[in-house]
Amino acid sequence: MAHAEVIAPGATIGILGGGQLGRMLAQAAARLGYRCHIFAPEADQPAAQVSAAATRAAYADAAALRAFAAAVSVVTYEFENVPVETVRLLDPLVPVRPGARSLEVAQDRLNEKSFANALGIGTAAFVAVDDADGLKAAIARIAPPAILKTRRLGYDGKGQAVIDDARDLDAAWTTIGKAPAILEARVDFEREISVVVARAADGATACYVPVENRHQAGILDMTTAPAPISPALARDAEALAARVAQALDHVGVLCIELFVTKGGALLMNELAPRVHNSGHWTIDACGASQFEQHIRAVCGLPLGGPERHSDAVMKNLIGDDAARWPALLADPGAHVHLYGKAEARPGRKMGHVTWIKPRTGRQGQN
Ligand code: AMP
Repeated sequence: MAHAEVIAPGATIGILGGGQLGRMLAQAAARLGYRCHIFAPEADQPAAQVSAAATRAAYADAAALRAFAAAVSVVTYEFENVPVETVRLLDPLVPVRPGARSLEVAQDRLNEKSFANALGIGTAAFVAVDDADGLKAAIARIAPPAILKTRRLGYDGKGQAVIDDARDLDAAWTTIGKAPAILEARVDFEREISVVVARAADGATACYVPVENRHQAGILDMTTAPAPISPALARDAEALAARVAQALDHVGVLCIELFVTKGGALLMNELAPRVHNSGHWTIDACGASQFEQHIRAVCGLPLGGPERHSDAVMKNLIGDDAARWPALLADPGAHVHLYGKAEARPGRKMGHVTWIKPRTGRQGQN
C-alpha cells in the first residue's frame, strides 16, 4: 500500500480550477495552515480571491504548468474536466492527487458506467452511440423513455436530451451536438442519493452519511442529510463508494451519485473524482468537512472524523437567489456561503445556505 509523503502545514497546495469548490478547498487549507495557488484560465476566480497566489493560463500551457509545479508541493483539482494531459505533464514534476486514472474514468460516461459494471455495481442500461445510425440501433435495444448523453463534458444536465418517442431521434442527436454519446434507459427512481467518501494514500477511508438530492432543471437544488433510507441501504451505499475509491486507488474525496429504485436497489449514475456540491452541508454539520478531508488526504495527513454532529438541509443559491442574502443573513439558523461571483447569470451557482438541527438516526461508517 502506498504511503504518501507528508506535506506539512506551511506548504503551498496547487489547485487546478478556480470555482467555488476550489474556494472552499482553499478556505479549509488555510485553516490547517497551508497556502493555495490556483491555476485556471478564467479571470477573477472565486478560489483565487481567497488564495495566496494564482496563475491565469490555459490548461495546455506547458511553460505555465512547469512554473506552477515549481511553486507548489502537491497539486489537486476541483473539477473533473481538467485535461488528462495536464495531469500527465505535472505528475513527474510534483505529486498530483487524485491521479490521472480517477479523471480518465470520470470524464467519460461510457468508461464510468463500464467501470461500475465491472465492479458489480448496477447502472441504468446503456449503449454507446457514435453516430445517427448508431442511435437508431441503440433505441431498438433501449426503448423510450431514454436519455441521450454526451460521453464527455456534460454537467448539470447539459449535453443531454430526453427521448420519449423513437421519432425524436434526429432532434435529440442535434441537441447534444452530434458528439459521441451513450443512450441510457430512464430510471423510474424513488429518490436520488449521493455518498461522499475520502480515501487516504494508505487505503484508509472515511465516509459521510448518504444524503438525498433534489434537482431542478438538471441542477442540484437541495440536499438533505441524512437521506431518509434504511440503515442497511445506507451501509450498502457507503460500502459501494469505498469500493469505487479503492478500485481507482483514489487519493482525496470522491462522490458517487446513485438512484434508489422503487424496488430498493442502488444504481450508480455518476462519479465525481472531487469534492461535490452534495457534500457542502459537511462544512456546518460534521467534525471535518469534505474540503478538510480532501486537503488532509492529498497532504498525506490522517483523515478527520466524518461523523455529523447535526442533521442538515443545504440549498443552493442559483442565479437571482443570491439577491436574497439580506433575508438569509437575518435568519440566525442559516449558515450562508457566498462565492464572490460578480454576475448572477441564470443557472449559475452563486452560493449556498445550510440549516442544521440536532442529529437523529445512525451515525454512518466511521
Ligand atoms: P447527470 O448529468 O447524469 O447527473 O444527470 C442530471 C440529472 O438528470 C440526474 O441527477 C437525474 O435527476 C436525471 N437523470 C440522469 N440520468 C437519468 C436516468 N437514466 N434516469 C432518470 N433520471 C436521470
